[in-house]
Amino acid sequence: MDEKYAAIPTQNTHSGAERAAIISEALPYLRRMRGQSIVIKYGGAAQTDDALRAAVMRDVALLHYVGIKPVVVHGGGNEISGLCRELGIEPKFVEGMRVTDAATMRVTEMVMGQIGKNIAQHLHAAGAPAVGLSGKDAGLLQARKIAGDWGLVGEVEKVETRVLESLSSQGFVPVISPVAPDENGETFNVNADLAASAIAIALGATKLLLLTDVPGIYRDFNDKGSLLSSLTAREAEELIESGAVSSGMIPKVRCCIEAVNGGVARAHIVDGRAPHAILSELFTDVGCGTMITNEKQDGKDGLG
Ligand code: ADP
Ligand code: MG
Repeated sequence: MDEKYAAIPTQNTHSGAERAAIISEALPYLRRMRGQSIVIKYGGAAQTDDALRAAVMRDVALLHYVGIKPVVVHGGGNEISGLCRELGIEPKFVEGMRVTDAATMRVTEMVMGQIGKNIAQHLHAAGAPAVGLSGKDAGLLQARKIAGDWGLVGEVEKVETRVLESLSSQGFVPVISPVAPDENGETFNVNADLAASAIAIALGATKLLLLTDVPGIYRDFNDKGSLLSSLTAREAEELIESGAVSSGMIPKVRCCIEAVNGGVARAHIVDGRAPHAILSELFTDVGCGTMITNEKQDGKDGLG
């Protein structure tokens, strides 16, 4: 085994046979998902430190090695806010989306670029060659200004999937910073959740996974016993209308609804801080977090 992996402690108390049985249980999921695109949004809030980021990217590298085509879209919440404050710009959010003036846009593009390259570096270290790109590369994303008081905040108008398809087919994992020009070339900050769902739809992805800093959607955020394990797009709409979800959860739930209405089989909101959240969601029948589907599903179709 490569030295750099040998250093990672396994802390596994199971016998060899038990561990092999767990791997074997993944077979139906692996069969079903081989060759499929999965879009993973790694939220700013879940990127608490570099070690966690490295661990999450090891799981993404594993997907790459079992023949799944992962595409990573990242956020930058905390780090953008941190640098803004250092520069004397007070971060402001409306409905979970950053109000972006020209100075904030420059900070956002800079910080997003750094985060994307850092994620690509972690993937590469885990053995999955990755390429960091923004919406500006090869016309990947075209934005359109969102109506309202957000300033330079855009939504995705167009996705040009060719660059993603060529990277994936050549064995590279694309890592996308959600910064995109509009048709006149002006730069916009796109909420990473919304960028991820637009990309998942355009790619015909099987799944959209949103990694964040909560275990999923709570029916009542103050009641930790109210975590929802699955809901339909219609039920998710009701949660937004009733005000049960707020702040950063609003674009997240919206983008899950968009994704499943746009042909993505399932969208999941999972805790990116939990160990191996991606693997438990994809390869076990336990699942985790909140799953959003178009219709009620029994979870037994092998899609995890
Ligand atoms: P990210 O960087 O992953 O996009 P956000 O901070 O934008 O993270 O969004 C996640 C946040 O949404 C959670 O930390 C939580 O405070 C908030 N939230 C609001 N309503 C809910 C809810 N009903 N269930 C879970 N989280 C909620
Ligand atoms: Mg957010």
